[in-house]
Amino acid sequence: MATLRIAGGRVLHPDLSVTEGDVLVDDESGEIVAVGDTGDGDETLDAAGCLVMPGLVNAHCHAAMTLLRGYADDKPLETWLREDVWPVEAELTDDDIRAGTELALVELLKSGTTAFADMYFSMPEVAEAVADAGLRARLGHGVVGVGKDEDDARADHEESLAFAREYDGYADGRVQTMYTPHSLTTVDEALLREYVPAAREAGVPLHFHANETRDEVDPIVDERGERPLEYADDVGMLGESDFVAHGVHSDAAEIALIAERGTAVVHCPASNMKLASGAAPIPAYRREGVTVALGTDGAASNNDLDLFDEMRDAAMLGKHAANDASAVPAEAVVEMATAGGADALGFDAGRIAAGKKADLAVVDFEAAHLTPTHDAVSNLAYATRGSDVKHTVCDGDVLVRDREVLTLDEDAVRERATERARDLVARAE
Ligand SMILES: [Zn+2]
Repeated sequence: MATLRIAGGRVLHPDLSVTEGDVLVDDESGEIVAVGDTGDGDETLDAAGCLVMPGLVNAHCHAAMTLLRGYADDKPLETWLREDVWPVEAELTDDDIRAGTELALVELLKSGTTAFADMYFSMPEVAEAVADAGLRARLGHGVVGVGKDEDDARADHEESLAFAREYDGYADGRVQTMYTPHSLTTVDEALLREYVPAAREAGVPLHFHANETRDEVDPIVDERGERPLEYADDVGMLGESDFVAHGVHSDAAEIALIAERGTAVVHCPASNMKLASGAAPIPAYRREGVTVALGTDGAASNNDLDLFDEMRDAAMLGKHAANDASAVPAEAVVEMATAGGADALGFDAGRIAAGKKADLAVVDFEAAHLTPTHDAVSNLAYATRGSDVKHTVCDGDVLVRDREVLTLDEDAVRERATERARDLVARAE
C-alpha cells in the first residue's frame, strides 16, 4: 500500500464542522484511510493554510459544450436550442467532442471538481478522456428523437444502451454509465416504454431533463392531463438510482412523488437564471427529503464549469425566489455540491471519512477575499472561487498540484479546443 498524506491543513467533516488535521489516503484502493492525527504517509501533499474538502460533484453537464461557450447568449431555451445549439451540434465530430471534453476536464479539475455526470454524444471519446484525466464520471449518450424517423430514433436508444453496457465500470470503475433520454418532450413515449425496462435490465440509472421550463411542462399537461413527473413515473423513469436535471417547474404533488421514489434532483441555478427558465423550489425538495445535487449544465448556458460559482448562485437564487434570506443557506449548498452530488450519481464519495473514496479538493484560504475565516462553510459558499483550488485528488491520485493539471497539457488542450471551435462554427454557418 502506497499512502499519501494531505498534511497541515484544516478538514471539512461530513457534519460540516472543521478541525485541524491531515487526511491519509491509499492510492491503490483509492480510499481515505484516516482523518485527523493520521501519522506519516509515503508521500506528502502540503495543505498548510488550506481547507481540505470533498471533491466537488458536477451532477449535470454536457462537457464538450465548452466549444460553444459564448457562441450564442441571451435567448430563451427553445429558441436557443433550435436556432443556435442544434445546428452546430449536428456538425460535431468525435475529434471535436474529445477536444471540448478535455477543455472541460481542465476547467473541472482546476476548480476542484472530481466527479461529473455527462450526457452528450461520441461518448466513447468522453470515456477515454475521463480515463486519461483521472477523475470520476457517470456518462450517458443523450437520446434525442426530434427530427428523426422511427429507425433513426430507435438506433439512438440502442446506441445509448450499448454505450451504457460496454463502458460501465471502465477505467478501474471510475467511469460508470447511465441511460439518458434527453427529456420527456424530445423523446417518443413508445420507445421510452421499450427502452426504460432494457436500461433497468442493464442495471444502469436513468438521467434526463425534466420540468426545466414552462414551455416544456404545459404541452405534457395539455396532452396527457398529468404532470410531467407523473408521466415519467408512469413510464417507470423515477427509480432510486435515477436523477433528473432541473425540476424547476414541479408542483407539490410531483415533489412528494419524487421524494417517495427516492429519485434525486440536480439543481442548475446559473443555467436556469441565464435562460430565464425560473427558480427551482429547492427548499421544498429538501424539506421532503429529496437528494439535491448541483450542476452547471453545459458551458454554453452558464458560461463556466465552476461549482463554487454554482453554490453561490444556488444560495442567492434560492433566497431571492423565496424572499427569505434563510432559504438555501451556506450549509445546504456545500452539501449539495459534495455529498448530494455523490449520492445522486451513486459514488461512495463526497464526504471525508475513512473508507470513502479519496476524492478531495484542497482550497487555498490564504487569500484576501477569504480573510478572515469566521466560518469556513460561509467562505466556501459565498466567497471562494474555483481558482482558489490548489490541489485536486481523485481516487487517491493527485491530479492537480499547485494549480497545475498533471494529467492534461493545459496549453495544448486550449489550443486544440480553440481551433476545433472555430472550425465547427464555420462548418455550421
Ligand atoms: Zn442540460
